[in-house]
Amino acid sequence: MENKITGRINSLETFGTVDGPGIRFIVFMQGCPLRCIYCHNRDSWDINGGREVSVDEIMTDLLKYKEYFMRSGGGITVSGGEPTLQAEFVTELFKRCKASGIHTALDTSGFAEVSGLDELLSYTDLILLDVKQTDEMKHREITGVGLEKIHRFTEYISKKNIPVWIRYVLVPGYTDGMEDLDKAASFIGKFKNIEKVEVLPYHGMGQCKWDSLGKEYQLKDLTSPDDQEVKRAKIILSSHLQPTHL
Ligand code: SF4
Repeated sequence: MENKITGRINSLETFGTVDGPGIRFIVFMQGCPLRCIYCHNRDSWDINGGREVSVDEIMTDLLKYKEYFMRSGGGITVSGGEPTLQAEFVTELFKRCKASGIHTALDTSGFAEVSGLDELLSYTDLILLDVKQTDEMKHREITGVGLEKIHRFTEYISKKNIPVWIRYVLVPGYTDGMEDLDKAASFIGKFKNIEKVEVLPYHGMGQCKWDSLGKEYQLKDLTSPDDQEVKRAKIILSSHLQPTHL
């Protein structure tokens, strides 16, 4: 039966390999309440931007690739922007995916009101939770928003015992200090549903999007951390993970 629910998306990626297990069909939703200074999807902020699509259109496209991602242990990842801003659309999409036996992952900053997300979370197999900082002031400096809502969301999905992969962007001078990593490690260690921690090295590849929108990119001269720094951060951030997940 035709479904009329529509949402606004920024883009699609048919063979993603870094946003969840296996090969993923990735839907980047439009709209984000955060203002990350290193945002690599600067063009996704405006909820009225992007293009409108129906759940049916996405499903038709997705099912063409199902064989490839199913064989790799993959599935669908809905990212952004912030996907929970369009919870009704993502809920319907995930519901349809689950009916077709497709693994679902939600890539979120966690800056979401938990009331009203129960149905979406009931169709979510994995949450990729982007932890930007765990210090309130520094988080505000990097993202423009505070931590309270994110902490509520994290506790909520922990109570529901939904598997989580933490993703931490290592930004020199902003998130890579010993104190930053220790504090984030203690936060991560509080939750028993966290399966692993991924560290994503900062890169400036999103700058061209800021330039094309005529917006100033603050981190122009920042270099990416090297492999050793990424490894070190991953060890520290994983150091309090609860033993069943080590
Ligand atoms: S949460 Fe993601 S999309 Fe939103 S501003 Fe931050 S990096 Fe950009």
